[in-house]
Amino acid sequence: MDNDGSAAATPSFWVQPRTRLGDVVGQVDFATTPRSAGPMTFASLPRIDEVAQLDVAIVGVPFDAGVSYRPGARFGPQHIRASSRLLRPYNPEADAWPFGAHQVADLGNITAHPYDIPAAVAAVERGARDALERADRLLVLGGDHTIALPVLRALSAVHGPIAVVHFDAHLDTWDTYFDTPLLHGTPFRRASEEGLLDKESCLHIGIRGGLYSAADMDDDRALGFMGIRCEDFDLVGLGGVIERMRSRVGTRPVYVSVDIDVLDPAFAPGTGTPESGGLSSRELLTILRATADLNVVGADIVEVAPTYDHAEITGIAAAHVGYELLSAWAPPLPPELANLRTR
Ligand code: MN
Ligand code: MN
Repeated sequence: MDNDGSAAATPSFWVQPRTRLGDVVGQVDFATTPRSAGPMTFASLPRIDEVAQLDVAIVGVPFDAGVSYRPGARFGPQHIRASSRLLRPYNPEADAWPFGAHQVADLGNITAHPYDIPAAVAAVERGARDALERADRLLVLGGDHTIALPVLRALSAVHGPIAVVHFDAHLDTWDTYFDTPLLHGTPFRRASEEGLLDKESCLHIGIRGGLYSAADMDDDRALGFMGIRCEDFDLVGLGGVIERMRSRVGTRPVYVSVDIDVLDPAFAPGTGTPESGGLSSRELLTILRATADLNVVGADIVEVAPTYDHAEITGIAAAHVGYELLSAWAPPLPPELANLRTR
């Protein structure tokens, strides 16, 4: 620190040293800053004002007025960020540098109205459009699942009709609940009705539990979805599930929507509408790794409700979902940087 008396001294904790790979600003340098002392951004990555340009924007949406059962997903974004501080720069399973091969930054949270759902949905759409003017790809931390609709509106305005790969215990293609059309059980019906979806290519993975009627599945197919149910994992295996996903979406622009309740409550207790008999974290992460050869243009991680979490189990699972998505999007590191090490 300068000591010439010309300016007020900057406290040493104010600016934390960061790792860099070429021009890319990465995580706080954990060799000099303990992980528990880093900033409250996803994976201790830079904020938007700390980078000159951006490839991937991470945006939080602390909104949960659309939940039908347990509330609390409004605290999801900060919980996921807090649970993401142990993520490291190199992902050996994916052979990827999720924070070093492209510029990722945390844009903070979109301010969404806590009571007025249509106003909140409009605000999220504006925020997502703003983020897409700065970055090619968007990773949204929810929030309840209502927010997938405005994010799909923003992405569809750029890419046209989108193929959704939707990880969830639930269909989320219902019509209304208490006469309300915008809530966390309806975003994909609204998106289909609005023409935002490629109806030949949408897919649910991890569906299970009860429905209101067998007709729910017929409605769902008419809206453009194919379903891979949890029991299909036992019938065709993980490789078979991945193959079905690839053949369903092909080369179309894809939105990956991860409702954390796709995981069994053993792996994600901190969520609003838990259902028994779900995926393991390992199964979900393996499928997400396989999205690297799809044309994914954006993703969300929703329905993390920390009040019901224990020991950050759900938060850590959500953080690793983000890690695999960022790894899948990371281009190969340039050869001159590939042998560098960050600490
Ligand atoms: Mn769900
Ligand atoms: Mn959902």
